[in-house]
Amino acid sequence: MTTTTAADPTTEVRKYGLFIDGTERPAAKHSERANPGTGQVVARFARGSAEDAAEAIAAARREFDSGTWPRLSGAARSQFLHRLAGLMRRDAEKLAHIEAEESGKPIRLARGDVSGSIGLVEFAASLAMTEHGAIYDNLGEGFTGLVTREPCGVVGMITPWNFPLLLLSQKLPFALAAGCTVVAKPSELTSGTTVETARLCQEAGLPAGVFNVVTGSGSVVGSALSKSFDIDMLSFTGSTQVGNTISAAAAPSAKRLSMELGGKAASIVFPDADLEAATEGVLFAVLFNTGECCVSGARLLVHEDIADAFLEGLVAKARTVRTGQPLDEDADLGALIHEQHLNDILAKVAQAREDGATVLTGGGRLGADSLAGGLFLEPTIVDNVTPDARIFHEEVFGPVLTVTRFSTVDEAVGLANAVEYGLANSIWSKNIDTALNTARRLRSGTVWVNTTIDGAPQLPGGGVKRSGYGREMGVAGYEEFTEVKTIQIRTGVKEPFFRS
Ligand code: NAP
Ligand code: MG
Repeated sequence: MTTTTAADPTTEVRKYGLFIDGTERPAAKHSERANPGTGQVVARFARGSAEDAAEAIAAARREFDSGTWPRLSGAARSQFLHRLAGLMRRDAEKLAHIEAEESGKPIRLARGDVSGSIGLVEFAASLAMTEHGAIYDNLGEGFTGLVTREPCGVVGMITPWNFPLLLLSQKLPFALAAGCTVVAKPSELTSGTTVETARLCQEAGLPAGVFNVVTGSGSVVGSALSKSFDIDMLSFTGSTQVGNTISAAAAPSAKRLSMELGGKAASIVFPDADLEAATEGVLFAVLFNTGECCVSGARLLVHEDIADAFLEGLVAKARTVRTGQPLDEDADLGALIHEQHLNDILAKVAQAREDGATVLTGGGRLGADSLAGGLFLEPTIVDNVTPDARIFHEEVFGPVLTVTRFSTVDEAVGLANAVEYGLANSIWSKNIDTALNTARRLRSGTVWVNTTIDGAPQLPGGGVKRSGYGREMGVAGYEEFTEVKTIQIRTGVKEPFFRS
């Protein structure tokens, strides 16, 4: 295992306020965020109150009910989104730097997140121009149906810490393209790029009140958004547990919900796979974003005929992975989000050992030299994990891969589907029958074949089972933020019902 160089000592503490109705303003309370690789404070966020949330909701409500944004042409909204994408491109390096420092992810990944986010904004700009309703002119003479798509209203967005900008960008530009107004509540650990986005939206000419950001805790600000009767839709990304709390809090207002929740994806390796590509892919699936990824390929399901040889290659490659400080250009893996999370991961590995698993590599904390004091964990591979072990089912959200062997396609499908989650899975096979037939039997919103954690703005993503419901990205991601209205028109006189 190699470790690499130290943090950037020139970092200043960035200060952020609440962004409400076109004005950035301080809050009564603040929180500080330290880079989890160095312990150095990098940002100060406003801790919004329930009253701040209410003000932001009122601004978004007023803009939606009587402002210009929902009434603009798609072309005008598209032009705004193109300007926003341009400003994000101008500030890309700054945004990546903030993202890496606050979340602990390697700068190389943070740059990927920023360019992915820009791609989503540009795609949403194209949808603002091209999406439209439908006309039914085949209902018989004198009867015409218009199926219109209206913006669904004021949208609350609550996001987690693992991909702060990218997950916001899976929601915000699509909602704006549709004509909605928004109040966002980012994770209190990684709020920087969400407030930066609000600043850029303003610079790009978004009217005041269309996009508001209230930073602060989930139990205060998030809860206020969930309960509000003035919010029409809540779009949440985070854990299944918090998602359930939000659903219950939102129930009395009957608001529309979109839930992007946890996952426990499998990488299924068949004997006829390109084993070199599969080795790289399986490792990428579990180590991408230091394993702090909802679609992380945390479970390897490998055919028994190739298992030993495949694992030998996988372990050897895992030992060459470079863990480094978030701003280290050469780091493949970064720091974990917070100390409690790191300890939870270690406890889950200890539990796996108790349940009979064998740790093939890793399993410990890293802290030598430039990593001293940071929250770093070795890439870890845990073999002999049976479906009755807790680690087979629970989200670990760290660089930990479990290994389970199978002998038939039916068994592989059964193991993959045996968890409560259904966000994504990956299949490695060069046999089209095996690959496609397996893909069709997996219960997850996404299946990757001979690739993993891949994507494009045109392709929707989301969960089934306890991974939630609703889709983000693609045309489906735009439609989430629209309400269908049917307008039925009779021209001429309809056959009367009453006989007198
Ligand atoms: P989390 O604990 O569920 O928090 C997510 C967001 O919800 C945060 O902004 C949090 O605020 C807020 N929140 C907490 N309690 C709340 C409440 N009572 N009411 C309203 N909002 C509340 O998730 P996390 O730890 O940040 O992120 C990791 C989880 O997200 C994992 O389970 C992962 O699988 C999931 N995830 C899913 C996807 C997907 O697309 N399906 C993508 C990424 C991550 P605070 O600032 O107080 O924490
Ligand atoms: Mg949390």
